Amino acid sequence: MSAGSSGAQVARAEGEPLTILGVMLRSADYLAERGVETARLDAEHMLAHTLGVGRLEMYLQHERPLDESELERFRPLLRRRAQREPLQYILGRQAFRDLELEVGPGVLIPRPETEQLVEAVLAWAKGKEELVALDIGTGSGAIALSLLQEGGFTRCVGTDASAEALEFAARNANAAGLASRLELREGSLLGPIGDDERFDTVVSNPPYVAVSERDALQPEVVSWEPAEALFAGADGLDVLRQIVPAAAPALRVGGLLALEVGDGQAGAVVELVRKAESYSDMTVHPDLAGKGRIVTAVRAGRS
Ligand code: SAM
Ligand code: GLN
Repeated sequence: MSAGSSGAQVARAEGEPLTILGVMLRSADYLAERGVETARLDAEHMLAHTLGVGRLEMYLQHERPLDESELERFRPLLRRRAQREPLQYILGRQAFRDLELEVGPGVLIPRPETEQLVEAVLAWAKGKEELVALDIGTGSGAIALSLLQEGGFTRCVGTDASAEALEFAARNANAAGLASRLELREGSLLGPIGDDERFDTVVSNPPYVAVSERDALQPEVVSWEPAEALFAGADGLDVLRQIVPAAAPALRVGGLLALEVGDGQAGAVVELVRKAESYSDMTVHPDLAGKGRIVTAVRAGRS
């Protein structure tokens, strides 16, 4: 079946009205044929989005026929998903902790494991006040905005090499009412940070996917999400190798370095931290699946 036939999946059969349920079932079949694993759920989300109702509300209207203008608005979304564009880009949003973030092509879709990274920083920050954070590779602003919203952070600097990603971060900061406390700077890693600037926390979810893993990624990731947000050299550690030593002078003594790393990389990253000779209390935190995906360390030295 060709991509162009998607229209036919939601075309009216002779004399038969197309109900919400009917469209949902046909769309789910169509997406499943295109290899979408969560076909039914995604069809429901896109239809609810088209109709401007919640999924539950839609359930109560299963037998309602759809009119032609509703179908016309729905078809392009279905077609996009059939091309394996991520659902979040199509809906234009992703929930992250207490935030509803705008996302789209050009910015990484924040992941659940990154919510755990925020959790680790918040646990460290508990009881502390007036903290200032640096979020390297802020993307949509997910980490920075959560710290500002949930912890004792008064200010956060977010850097990113991608101007496009920073535009999403700026809109998300505005939408969350946090724009005055998030300072966005374009540039590579700690390049946009002054020599005399000091932070209580340096946090980052950097690119850490090995180039060799490219073929194992889902089409939603590899064909749609920005490559510069994902890949970091042959072993995936190229960016972490730079961040670990570069973050030390930007941290106050006693401040926290908090990094998200790939599955199986924690040992190598702990070794990078040790080699930097500026940190103590290296800790690997398990994620929800029990894998060591978060590495933290405390800036050592005399205060
Ligand atoms: N922090 C966001 C999150 O957790 O959803 C985005 C994380 S994404 C894995 C990595 C981000 O780092 C991307 O936004 C990418 O543009 C940015 N990035 C990649 N290389 C960079 C570099 N050398 N300097 C600054 N930012 C970089
Ligand atoms: N968790 C993402 C993935 O596996 C990668 C994000 C990253 O490199 N920081 O697709």
